[in-house]
Amino acid sequence: MPEVLFGVDLTKPMEDQDIPGHNRWHPDIPAIAAVDPGSSFRLECIDWTDGQIHNNDDATDIKDVDLTRVHVLSGPVAINGAEPGDLLVVDILDIGAFPNSEWGFNGIFSKENVGGFLTDYYPDAAKSIWDLQGIYATSRHLPGVKFAGITHPGLIGCAPSAELLDKWNKREAELVATEPNRVPPLAKLPEPENAVLGSLSGAMKDRVAQEAARTIPPREHGGNTDIKNLSRGTRIYFPVYVKGANLSMGDLHFSQGDGEISFCGAIEMAGWIDLHVDVIKGGMAKYSILNPIFKPGPVEPSYSEYLIFEGISVDDAGKQHYLDVTLAYKKACLNAIEYLKNFGFTGEQAYMLLSTAPIEGRISGVVDIPNACATLAIPTAIFDKPILPV
Ligand code: ZN
Repeated sequence: MPEVLFGVDLTKPMEDQDIPGHNRWHPDIPAIAAVDPGSSFRLECIDWTDGQIHNNDDATDIKDVDLTRVHVLSGPVAINGAEPGDLLVVDILDIGAFPNSEWGFNGIFSKENVGGFLTDYYPDAAKSIWDLQGIYATSRHLPGVKFAGITHPGLIGCAPSAELLDKWNKREAELVATEPNRVPPLAKLPEPENAVLGSLSGAMKDRVAQEAARTIPPREHGGNTDIKNLSRGTRIYFPVYVKGANLSMGDLHFSQGDGEISFCGAIEMAGWIDLHVDVIKGGMAKYSILNPIFKPGPVEPSYSEYLIFEGISVDDAGKQHYLDVTLAYKKACLNAIEYLKNFGFTGEQAYMLLSTAPIEGRISGVVDIPNACATLAIPTAIFDKPILPV
């Protein structure tokens, strides 16, 4: 087992940990440790909500979740010798739940509290608790399904430079200004309340809290990409923007379907991750890399049979949209949910299943004007009974 660089006590929130991590992005958040290229180490993680969700049958905690506290991240870890323009090579060696915390959660956020991909159809909060047994997940709130998890960090990336942070804040503020009172909001702008910024204190902390970006969207550095295939054995190449790279991660997912459609999101868990790091000098320019690239690992659930749902870019009112991939995927999800209702699932259960099981989402066609076609593939073996039409 590699050295634990960042440990957590699950009975305490991030700001009360012996060494606090952070829940915003900013170049001035100090590294918690520095390692040499070629090192391996372990980081422990609290679940992304900072322990706000409990293993019970009541969704009030999902409904009332305080999103000023997310995502709690472990790090940053500085890599000696890494400089802006380099690539940070990160190998995900292994990931797991803590032995005393082998459970995770999924939830549908209420529309008033950021909602999810299908919030216009499912505006109310709901929760499912998942029991983790080795590689498998089952839920007392979703009987009749069992699947192998594709375990990964939902969020991982290097710190932005001051210039990049400024770009993020400007463009996101411009978007919000187009419809400032929208529910849910178009984006979450910097929020000093409940900002956890590592060891910063005093006036420095106050300034950084005003400027630091929220962790919700994926951006140029990767961040909250929620890509289920960043699983065991994956090698990721991250752009480096600051001296030391300052790598942070969190939001561990035991399993997730493509799109993480319910927003809360995957099977969310606390746990540990083992990483190996290296540096490619000048790699950003050498390989024309603006966003991270990655090579998935060799260990993923191997389901071979799927039932696949199609969606096209025509909305509920029958209006034609032009090659709208988001709408097409939404319709594929809704088609799958309506279908699964015939097999004993409620709409909410089916929605949470699509968000948690190893679902394959695809952009299948984007040229056949005027309809985009998106597909959503459900592995049939996750059900304890046949689900094909007969
Ligand atoms: Zn997550």
